[in-house]
Amino acid sequence: MGLFQKKFTCANCKKESSHRHKPKSEWQVEGPLCGDCYVNQMKKFYESSLRQQCVICGMEKDVPDMWEPRYQWDMKGLLCKTCFDKKDAEHKSLKTFCGICGKKLGVFRYNPKKKWIIDGQLCRECWDTQKAKLG
Ligand SMILES: [Zn+2]
Ligand SMILES: [Zn+2]
Ligand SMILES: [Zn+2]
Repeated sequence: MGLFQKKFTCANCKKESSHRHKPKSEWQVEGPLCGDCYVNQMKKFYESSLRQQCVICGMEKDVPDMWEPRYQWDMKGLLCKTCFDKKDAEHKSLKTFCGICGKKLGVFRYNPKKKWIIDGQLCRECWDTQKAKLG
C-alpha cells in the first residue's frame, strides 16, 4: 500500500481520478465514478425523485409545484394546479345549500321558477312548498 491511491478512469467522463466513488446500484453505472460525476448522479436522481405525475391528467411536474388533494376528495397522489382548481370548483358546486331552508343539497336539487325570485337552488321539500304557495 503506497501513500497514494492508484489512479482509475471514471466510468462516466473517462477522466483519470484518484478518488473513486462507488455508484449506487439504481444508477445503472458500471465501474467507479470521479467525485464530480458522483455528485452529478446524486443530483440527477434526487431531482427525478422530486417529479411526479398528476393523478388526473398525468402531466409530470416538480413536486413543489403540485397540490395535495383535499381530504374530502378521498384521493391519493398529487394534482397539478389546473386539475386541483377544476376539482375544487366541482366540489364547491356540489356543496350548495337550499336557498330557503339552508339544507345541504346533494345530487338532487331543484331550480326555482323565475317568478319565485329566489337565489340558488332548492331542496325538494322547499320546491314543493313554493310550488303550492306560488304556483
Ligand atoms: Zn467522472
Ligand atoms: Zn393535472
Ligand atoms: Zn329547503
